[in-house]
Amino acid sequence: MIVVIDGPAGSGKSSTARAVAERTGFTFLDSGAFYRAITLLYLRNHKNQELFFDQMKSCDLQVEFNDGRFSIRLNGETVTELIRDKEVSANVSTVAAMPQAREFVNTHLREFVKDGSFIADGRDLGTAVFPDADLKFFFDASVEKRAERRLNEMLLNGQQTDLEAVKLNIRERDHIDSTRKVAPLRKADDAIVVDTGLLTLEEQIQFVINTVKGR
Ligand code: C5P
Repeated sequence: MIVVIDGPAGSGKSSTARAVAERTGFTFLDSGAFYRAITLLYLRNHKNQELFFDQMKSCDLQVEFNDGRFSIRLNGETVTELIRDKEVSANVSTVAAMPQAREFVNTHLREFVKDGSFIADGRDLGTAVFPDADLKFFFDASVEKRAERRLNEMLLNGQQTDLEAVKLNIRERDHIDSTRKVAPLRKADDAIVVDTGLLTLEEQIQFVINTVKGR
């Protein structure tokens, strides 16, 4: 079974999907982490696209979901924390707009879900990557609510930032993600819309679990 949650940055997709996975035994798949990991490669190649594509094609990207923790390794290096860095967040949407990068990530995502039950979150999972998913959700909330939530997460993780900086990054990513030519952020016609500005995290989790059980 494949359940997908798409939506803009900070709408609560990852926290909900991770908790649902823990409670149901599904495997959590964070598709944004793949784009973030290859953005590290892009930055390490000083944004030189030719070098970046060259390294991307041959890089080894491994993900794991164990005991409720999602981790990602790039060429053997664990980059789970590093990919949350400000520099990565500021560049990831530029990388994610490159068709070659999307093709590369999609191949990995489809490979990963070959066996078992998955709950994945992203931007284009219901529309482009897994159009036949068993259940699709689209999470959304105001920029203010999303920025507050993201700020709290970042502060809890010990990252130095402020509300205005987070809001700016969210606005920029929303814009690039929803206007790019290939697989823009868009609700699938058959997705269930959830306004996460009106719900607590626990309510979101329960709503997804109950809907999954209903299937
Ligand atoms: O989910 P997260 O906010 O970590 O995703 C980081 C970025 O990766 C997004 O802003 C978007 O540019 C890109 N992304 C995407 N398609 C996905 C998942 C993420 O374009 N399915």
